[in-house]
Amino acid sequence: MIPYIKRDENEITNRLKRSDEQNVLQALKTSKPGMEELLHLISPAALPLLDHLSAKATQLKKMHYGKTIKLYTPLYLSNYCINHCTYCGFNKKSKEKRRRLSIDEAMTEARAIKKFGMDSILLVSGEDPKHISIDYLEKLATEMKKLFSYIAIEIYPLSMEYYQRLFNAGVDGLTLYQETYDQNTYKTFHLSGPKADYDDRLESIINGGQAGFRTIGIGVLLGLYDWRVEALSLAAHAIFLKKKFWRSKIQFSFPRITVANPQFNVPAHVSEKELEQMILAFRIVFPESEISVSTRESCEFRNRIAPTAASTMSAASSVIPGGYADSDQKELGQFSLHDTRTAAMMQSDMKSLNLDVIYKDWDKLF
Ligand code: SF4
Repeated sequence: MIPYIKRDENEITNRLKRSDEQNVLQALKTSKPGMEELLHLISPAALPLLDHLSAKATQLKKMHYGKTIKLYTPLYLSNYCINHCTYCGFNKKSKEKRRRLSIDEAMTEARAIKKFGMDSILLVSGEDPKHISIDYLEKLATEMKKLFSYIAIEIYPLSMEYYQRLFNAGVDGLTLYQETYDQNTYKTFHLSGPKADYDDRLESIINGGQAGFRTIGIGVLLGLYDWRVEALSLAAHAIFLKKKFWRSKIQFSFPRITVANPQFNVPAHVSEKELEQMILAFRIVFPESEISVSTRESCEFRNRIAPTAASTMSAASSVIPGGYADSDQKELGQFSLHDTRTAAMMQSDMKSLNLDVIYKDWDKLF
């Protein structure tokens, strides 16, 4: 177990409760905020002070990202999965129809995405290593790089050598969520398959850092456990990775559970206001890091958070393999979407918020 994730939870809870308005205002004035300030900014005392957090976050976002917002579209390659994560529509016990895309089918999807003006893509798959193999991914990334400026992956954990092959084939970013940093909660929701191993998952992201990915994406699935405690572990994880892989950029995501399965009871609900508090607090404490907000959230929320904190957003998402080329498909989705704007609508809405849409902000030549 990596030591930086260890925490004294009673102490954290007590300190969160003790934090008051003065602590929050003081944290906002600190020039280089760290874990101490983060604790005050995510405390219950900061919730009524969201306007203050928002003003500070807006200032920092402008300083580090100018008027830009990066857009990308996820491409689902397979909804087969050998894991049993009880909150996910792709879990191996789910009786829904499955589909995995051949390389040709995936390229048809990619061309459909490119056609609606997107230049950045996230390749997503359930843990399906037999078919979504390293050879498949490497070949696909090589082909995709001819179409897109930026490619990221959100797949099952790989060894450093395999990640390196994908990096060399043109993959720029890696996302691997821990889902929850609380080990007991992790056990409760990850019943079987390789993902049931908490430590292995936690350590796999290090392989990605060693492979040299430009962006390393981490996050928790909000709703599984107390979000304030999770936020501190997520921050500690980021600080560890930032120190170790200083050439890579950390990207935070804050997915709230929006399950495809209505039977699933969310054990630790996070309100929209609390989500906003968490995102603003991370923008203030990690001003240079990427913050990504997906279409799980509503159009109104995403429009509000784009100028204040988010640097990256998904657009025109389909969570169904094959869902772009054939939009009538009704196969299994991983989670449900709340922002269903098309890419054109998204691009135009960002413009009206005075934001410039970009697809990547770096180049190997820079
Ligand atoms: S969350 Fe990922 S690993 Fe778990 S069942 Fe869903 S697709 Fe598989």
